[in-house]
Amino acid sequence: MENNLYLYNTLTRKKEKFQPLHPSLVGMYVCGPTVYSDVHLGNCRTFVSFDLIFRYLKHLGFKVRYVRNITDAGHLEGDNDEGDDKFAKKAKLEQLEPMEIVQKYTLGFHDVLRLFNTLPPSIEPTATGHISEQIEMVQQIIANGYAYEVNGTVYFDVEKYVKDYDYTVLTNRKLDDMLNNTRELGGQDEKHGRLDFALWIKAKPEHIMRWPSPWSVGFPGWHIECSAMSRKYLGDQFDIHGGGMDLAATHHTNEIAQSEACNHTTPAKYWMHTNMLTVNGARMSKSSGNGFLPHQLFTGDHPLLERGYTPMAVRFFMLQAHYRSTLDFSNEALDAADKGFKRLMTAINLLDKLKPSKGKSALNIADLRAKCYAAMDDDFNSPILIAELFEVVRLINSIYDGKAAISAPDLEELKTFLQHFVFDILGLQNDQISTNDSMDEIMSIVIKLRDGAKQNKDFATSDRIREELNAIGIQLKDSKDGTLWNKI
Ligand code: AMP
Ligand code: ZN
Repeated sequence: MENNLYLYNTLTRKKEKFQPLHPSLVGMYVCGPTVYSDVHLGNCRTFVSFDLIFRYLKHLGFKVRYVRNITDAGHLEGDNDEGDDKFAKKAKLEQLEPMEIVQKYTLGFHDVLRLFNTLPPSIEPTATGHISEQIEMVQQIIANGYAYEVNGTVYFDVEKYVKDYDYTVLTNRKLDDMLNNTRELGGQDEKHGRLDFALWIKAKPEHIMRWPSPWSVGFPGWHIECSAMSRKYLGDQFDIHGGGMDLAATHHTNEIAQSEACNHTTPAKYWMHTNMLTVNGARMSKSSGNGFLPHQLFTGDHPLLERGYTPMAVRFFMLQAHYRSTLDFSNEALDAADKGFKRLMTAINLLDKLKPSKGKSALNIADLRAKCYAAMDDDFNSPILIAELFEVVRLINSIYDGKAAISAPDLEELKTFLQHFVFDILGLQNDQISTNDSMDEIMSIVIKLRDGAKQNKDFATSDRIREELNAIGIQLKDSKDGTLWNKI
């Protein structure tokens, strides 16, 4: 398929023309969430960025197999498989089974991404569902001579690996610097080398999530799951591997090492990394406690927030920055995004009211479309695309005010153009209903459905309707005379 897409490849540190390995199917693997707690807005930024990439590839006509995993086992507190098991720790805290924790936070993750209107991936495999594939891969790595077992735990042999491959390929660091940044081995250490990492870990007696293996009853290291699942669903080599920038130095570096040690080939042709959402310049993270939960952003219920914002205003806020730039959270930036988003939707709502004229159009659709494709073809540059869209907003407003003209065919083309770029590619939804009359009608249908759920004692559904409406800025109030609604 012909395309003009250029994307920034972390592996080569330059923008490259996108040439898929197989013309008929693009394979894309993105590291998904670790589901032991709620996803914060930073995590959402990464998934919204890959949603934009997925949507644009599909829009260009590619068939894309998008695999995004769920990490539900094997993630210890340290990147190098040290510390406590995060799932077991949380399970103890919430007095639940580890798999109840997994279920609870996986459902929450899906709910949040649905509110942000992200498309579901083609396959969403879990680490616990692919234990045998991970064991098989570890066996192959041992057989190839790049791993060794000590007391039931299997380690990747980085020293052996660097003789044949480049361990610094993704981050361009110096091996000596990497060694200097890693603590020295102590007498207690089973590892042979300082940079060695665990592929399979023998479970301590108190460890609940455990599986039999040729080496011990234990659990897989974190990095091996992505190598095993990407190979299973996309093959030894596939097109795009993505994730947040914070994953490149350890998780992705180790993924490449494992895949090469097992398959003798580098796993992905293009590595794409999204930059971080920051709060006052510091990376938003689960551990540092500066993570907004998306629902706090929607309701405004957080000390740092002056008010709530709709999920689409937040999505727009994210898309106004390029995925490789940092994006700093602030009330002012969100206010500006909210205003900009409303301006765009208000203009789109005016389209049906525009009166086409017979004269020449003030708009050159072909030129406009070319500019928007050029922006997206330049490494998915959504901020430039949005700047072009604001030019269109200005034009729609002046046509509406009678200061400019548009022909009937151009008006139809403009509608198709906006459908493509605003809704299909940017993935925005029009939550700005144009007239209060239609809003009243819609809300009376929703309220009737919620009453029906309540009568059937399906309180989960009735609560969810209220919460989701709340998230888009609509409040329901139950009273003696029925349910009333208002915009927050
Ligand atoms: P985790 O659940 O912590 O493994 O993270 C899931 C995804 O979110 C990974 O791709 C991370 O790189 C990404 N991520 C974590 N923190 C941030 C942040 N502050 N901004 C953007 N992406 C992030
Ligand atoms: Zn991963």
